[in-house]
Amino acid sequence: MITTHNLGFPRIGARRELKFAQEAFWKGEVSAEELNITARDLRRRHWQQQSSMALAPLGDFSLYDQVLDMSVTLGHLPARARDTGGSELDRYFRVARGRSANDSACCAIHAGEMTKWFDTNYHYIVPEFDRATRFRLNPQRLLAQLAEARAQGVSAKPVIIGPVTYLWLGKSKDDSDRLALLDDLLRVYAELLTLLADQGVDWVQIDEPALVTELDGDWRHAFHLAYHQLKACPVRLLLTTYFGELRENLQLACELPVAGLHVDAVSAASEVSRVADWLPVHKVLSLGVINGRNVWKTDLQATLDWLEPLHQRLGERLWLAPSCSLLHVPVDLAAETAMDPDIRSWLAFAVQKLDELHVLARALEHGRGAVAEPLAQNASAIASRRQSPRVHNPEVTRAIAAITPELGGRQSSFAQRLETQTQHLKLPAFPTTTIGSFPQTREIRHTRLQYRKGELNEREYTARIREEIAHCVREQEALGLDVLVHGEAERNDMVEYFGEQLDGYTFSQFGWVQSYGSRCVKPPILFGDIQRPKAMTVAWTEYAQSLTDKPMKGMLTGPVTILNWSFVRDDQPRKDTCLQLTLAIRAEVLDLERAGVRIIQIDEAALREGLPLRQSDWQSYLDWAIEAFRISANGVSDSTQIHTHMCYSEFNDIIEAIARMDADVITIETSRSDMELLDAFKGFQYPNDIGPGVYDIHSPNIPEQRHMVSLLEKAAQRIPPERLWVNPDCGLKTRHWEEVIPALRAMVEAAHSLRVS
Ligand code: GLN
Ligand code: ZN
Repeated sequence: MITTHNLGFPRIGARRELKFAQEAFWKGEVSAEELNITARDLRRRHWQQQSSMALAPLGDFSLYDQVLDMSVTLGHLPARARDTGGSELDRYFRVARGRSANDSACCAIHAGEMTKWFDTNYHYIVPEFDRATRFRLNPQRLLAQLAEARAQGVSAKPVIIGPVTYLWLGKSKDDSDRLALLDDLLRVYAELLTLLADQGVDWVQIDEPALVTELDGDWRHAFHLAYHQLKACPVRLLLTTYFGELRENLQLACELPVAGLHVDAVSAASEVSRVADWLPVHKVLSLGVINGRNVWKTDLQATLDWLEPLHQRLGERLWLAPSCSLLHVPVDLAAETAMDPDIRSWLAFAVQKLDELHVLARALEHGRGAVAEPLAQNASAIASRRQSPRVHNPEVTRAIAAITPELGGRQSSFAQRLETQTQHLKLPAFPTTTIGSFPQTREIRHTRLQYRKGELNEREYTARIREEIAHCVREQEALGLDVLVHGEAERNDMVEYFGEQLDGYTFSQFGWVQSYGSRCVKPPILFGDIQRPKAMTVAWTEYAQSLTDKPMKGMLTGPVTILNWSFVRDDQPRKDTCLQLTLAIRAEVLDLERAGVRIIQIDEAALREGLPLRQSDWQSYLDWAIEAFRISANGVSDSTQIHTHMCYSEFNDIIEAIARMDADVITIETSRSDMELLDAFKGFQYPNDIGPGVYDIHSPNIPEQRHMVSLLEKAAQRIPPERLWVNPDCGLKTRHWEEVIPALRAMVEAAHSLRVS
């Protein structure tokens, strides 16, 4: 018997039922009871969809976030939430998002910090620790779900975050050592595991993905301590790792005294045989053989080729699972009836991935003949994708082969370019600009929707968007901004907009993936060689430029950001896919230049997000990512000014790589951290122009001119004032015009006051 199991299932629901229920609850439109009914129905349906698994996960469902759930289970919510009244659910949502349903100002608190879950696009609520932190078991959620699973006849294994990873994920608020809390934490874990055993639970999945990161001696020691102590608990632990290779932690992971180990056989494929060699013979080896991070079908025959010998060797000790929780993929491909059937035949969402797992298990157990038909179907889909002319475009292959290192370099040094640009652009000191988008009003969204539905023809649509552009340009002129933008009214999303115009992309209708809480994203699917059939942005920018004598910035999304925010192909390295995107953006840059656009901004909002989990792998990523940006931008003449924009100020540790991008101007988010970014300039002279965002666009508050001036004065202590630009933190699309006008007016005045002083 092969044991198949799943590590976690997407919880938002195939039609985002959870999102709508959460949001309705927060608005006070449905009761807690109704929210819980939706949640229970979803769990029930999801267990049905996992019925082919010997063990389904339990406790992976969450009303907001699984890390926050674990904090609740450990009786560990931030102190500020503790006495805010209401129900446990109210306190939970207050930590998650600052407030619960119908909260008056008195019970609203500042929400827990949110940060990226390893290298995924999922964000979790960071546990907050201090010296006084004590844990207390609160097992209700798990016990209730256990009862539900039992009532439904589901054989389920509880999923919890392991104690070391839990501490690793959190932040100390008083600089005390998180590991000092381990003892107290282990006491509660032992209580929890014993309680689960009392309830008849046999296996518990204990997630320790921290094992795929670089750990120092203290953290490695914590693993020893923790698992030697938990060994006494009367349940079997499946120590679960995912998202990467174990490398120097491989031996540690194999040796910890648990009943089984799960490794990600997709991202750590090269380690599987070593793990099989090292793992003591009494332990289960669970292999994550189906990729839980992408949307492609698995090549089942190829997987069986290497799995069969391993199965012969390990017998029942071998378990099969997806590589990680399926949280990171959409629910069900069956809903995608509008998708091109060829492309659709190459894809697998969560439900289909479990089908694949089931086929693999049967093939191992009963021989490939027992699943001849699904195997044949799979083989033909794999072959069709491999050979498809829609995937492989010889022209693109030739263009990539023709890339030379010179493509990445500008004609002259920054100093020389600056001279030429200054002559052409005639900008004042402290030039003012914005990051690109202006408010996406209801009218704008409605116009785009009507166009998509065919209710507006091309001509009518163009006329309406032009009106929006004209309005946006007028407003910017009235404000006295120096470098204008067209406002991005035609763009629904900065990646999707480009994906839609590039060959090699397709889109799902329901392919939602949770990003955090109720926020879901629908990443476009990059399936084939990327080619740009025609210019994508030139007409809008040209029109905008025709309305003003001020310089108009052309706005593009950079190749690395397009890559990082898409589901990308798995049949070539990410780097190669990125290069193809790079050539498409480069061609667009050159078209804009030819059309007379003097300033071109290439947003790399997600550049930092793509950093690998281990710092030792950063350099190779940064090398190709920065090169991609340079190739996309640097075909222009000296007089064309290249801007880039990045979100998140946390890049002190990669500032040298950012300097290598050699953009003439970079604008970055930093106002909220009070110019913390400037720390990076202590030891490093950033050579080019820089616009540290002077106000936070995520907040509806109107920034004070005085505050912005003081931020800029602070900036001028580290950066030569003649290198400074004045701009908000990020795009303004989520704001209202009533907020944007006074905010930008104050910003322009701040710049003026610096010019005279
Ligand atoms: N140009 C984009 C905008 O203004 C940049 C968005 C971003 O950085 N996330 O909306
Ligand atoms: Zn931004």
